[in-house]
Amino acid sequence: MALKYSSKINKIRSFAFWLIFAGIGVMYIGLLFKSTMWLMALFMILGVGFVGLSTVVYFWIGMLSTRTVQIVCPSCEKPTKMLGRVDACMHCDQPLTMDKSLEGKEFDEKYNSKRHSKTAPDQS
Ligand SMILES: [Zn+2]
Repeated sequence: MALKYSSKINKIRSFAFWLIFAGIGVMYIGLLFKSTMWLMALFMILGVGFVGLSTVVYFWIGMLSTRTVQIVCPSCEKPTKMLGRVDACMHCDQPLTMDKSLEGKEFDEKYNSKRHSKTAPDQS
């Protein structure tokens, strides 16, 4: 019953990628309403909004990348980047953890939440 987890950076990156497509798609729909000026303008603004949002997300990825830890995946032996206490390998989706106390436990993204780390006993 192994659930498939993918690296957070990869997830965000594909989200930004699809936002651009959504933006272009929405602008294209706008072109279909050429006869209705306000409707076309509405779709155009929406489309530009999506593309703009994707730029923000890409910028955010850049910021996040500075906080990642570069490690070598024990499973596929490729260098990968980790974000937070638990993350998945960018290449093979192997769950990875930085926290010894979480080792061997079921991989769960909730270990990254602030609430959880506050209630967890401090191992250091
Ligand atoms: Zn790997």
